[in-house]
Amino acid sequence: MLEQAQKLLHTYYGYNSFRPGQSNVIEKLLYKQNTIAIMPTGGGKSICYQIPGLTQEGITLVISPLISLMKDQVDALTTLNIPATYINSSLTNDEQIARLRDVRLGKYTFLYVAPERLESKKFLHILQSISISLIAFDEAHCISQWGHDFRPSYRSVIDSIQQLNQKPTLIGLTATATKEVTKDLQQLLEVDSSNIVNTGFSRDNLTFQLVKGQDRNAYTLQFVQTNKEEAGIIYAITRKQVDQIHIQLKKIGVPVLKYHAGLTEEARQQAQNTFIQEEGCVMVATNAFGMGIDKSNVRYVVHYGLPRNLESYYQEAGRAGRDGEPSQCILLFSGQDISLQKYLIEQSDLDEEKKSKEYGKLQAMINYCHTNQCLPQFILHYFGDLSSKKNCKKCTNCNETLQKVDRTKEAQMVLSCIKRMNQSFGASLTAKVLKGSKDKKVKQFQFDQLSTYGLLHDYTEKELVNFIHFLVAENFLTAVEGRYPTLRLNQRSIDILKGELPVYVYIEKVPQKEATNDYPAEFFEHLRQIRKKMADQQGVPPYVLFTDRTLKELAKHKPQDEESLLQIHGMGEKKVEKYSDMLLKEISEWNQS
Ligand code: ADP
Repeated sequence: MLEQAQKLLHTYYGYNSFRPGQSNVIEKLLYKQNTIAIMPTGGGKSICYQIPGLTQEGITLVISPLISLMKDQVDALTTLNIPATYINSSLTNDEQIARLRDVRLGKYTFLYVAPERLESKKFLHILQSISISLIAFDEAHCISQWGHDFRPSYRSVIDSIQQLNQKPTLIGLTATATKEVTKDLQQLLEVDSSNIVNTGFSRDNLTFQLVKGQDRNAYTLQFVQTNKEEAGIIYAITRKQVDQIHIQLKKIGVPVLKYHAGLTEEARQQAQNTFIQEEGCVMVATNAFGMGIDKSNVRYVVHYGLPRNLESYYQEAGRAGRDGEPSQCILLFSGQDISLQKYLIEQSDLDEEKKSKEYGKLQAMINYCHTNQCLPQFILHYFGDLSSKKNCKKCTNCNETLQKVDRTKEAQMVLSCIKRMNQSFGASLTAKVLKGSKDKKVKQFQFDQLSTYGLLHDYTEKELVNFIHFLVAENFLTAVEGRYPTLRLNQRSIDILKGELPVYVYIEKVPQKEATNDYPAEFFEHLRQIRKKMADQQGVPPYVLFTDRTLKELAKHKPQDEESLLQIHGMGEKKVEKYSDMLLKEISEWNQS
């Protein structure tokens, strides 16, 4: 059975092999077993239900809470000549009626709907009258009351489905599922434990970078300019920051958009549509932007400010490189953001218990900014995915341009100072004492009388605060949670003080090398323009027609006939049939020019 699936993968999608987990899920569905697929964003979840859907009699119903994603999915299937449609509130009444009629007539292989649609008796009646082979629950974590985006109407879909006079195979797909959520889904969808396929959360095509101690504005402007052909997102914390960065980028001639809750609904919608439709443009936004954005060729996500927790960071950064191509996630760290995030937690409507939880999550985010470990590994471990033991070899901390420096002595001085301050204060006052500051508070507590006063006067206060954060991140020291965390020694601190545990930090030795392209950039650019023109004509986003990788391979290999076109990643028989004349003509003209 898998042979046929493999063939479809090549014919329709132009891919040669399955990604981890895909064949496993497909096989289970082909044997009509209810399944749960937990795969990272960009892991290729759609193919998991689309290939079984293509092989089976009857329609595949896809339930998705994200209306904006439905059109993309349907457009992508339609360009492959696969009959698919969606029915949701974005359509007029007449359009809905026409599509429902065609569903009843069996014209479609795939039907996408929002959960609320199953509350309609009329719709359920139509479902009764057709044969449904498979029901896919996209973003399945929203079904579970333990999920972070719980949607009660999504949960009630299960009851509606049980009323049907047929028993289609069910699959739940998600990129985020805690143990509780998985268990809940397992029960609701009646999935056997052996039919849970979990490939972890790792996103190997993403490079994680942390930039500290640099002018954030200058860095952002320079970064965007060096990557100006690429689409990217810049996340800032406040609306004001968004407005400022937007103006600055506009001034230097970058095609830039903005999105935040202070803009009108219309302006936001327009910015979002332009971002999806255009090639290399930059979106500057608060975290209000992104839910339901499926643009697959976002090449970078820059966090101008510190995110509130690692959950949102990984979700936002994860909007880069959904197409599997190398992409960058950069976090610009500034210590001031810690107070800003604390202020936002303090101002929120959360009760005390939840606030304290948020402070704990923020502390983990701060730890990420000061760790020495491989950055993606730090994130995966935070989410309880302990399977990855290898360093990524490309993040800021794995980068071989870093130099290992022994800072045991300095760590001992910091720890000893904390001990003398009775372990009752935070990083900022400790740094002041070590610097030898004449601050009022230092005098008030008579810390200027301590033997550790001014012991590290060669460092700036900012450097000392960062070093203390680093010691906390590496668990060389404990920060007791709360708005003003106090520093406490732990067993590892004592080992350092006794000289039994060394402390190393890594500092940047040489500037990073620019990555070199292995494809002719000019021809790639030309192909992108053609893709854009075709996309506009067909009213679909460009990345739905060809992925960036397909264009890069076309630019590099310049295939001259249909057979060599078929060797290109993403060029299946269906696409070759449709586009070979146009592509071969472009390549031939380029070769002659
Ligand atoms: P998800 O829903 O898991 O975020 P998608 O289904 O949108 O991911 O797939 C992300 C991208 O990966 C799409 O461009 C898709 O065509 C591509 N893709 C999926 N499976 C494969 C595969 N086996 N080989 C190469 N690319 C794939």
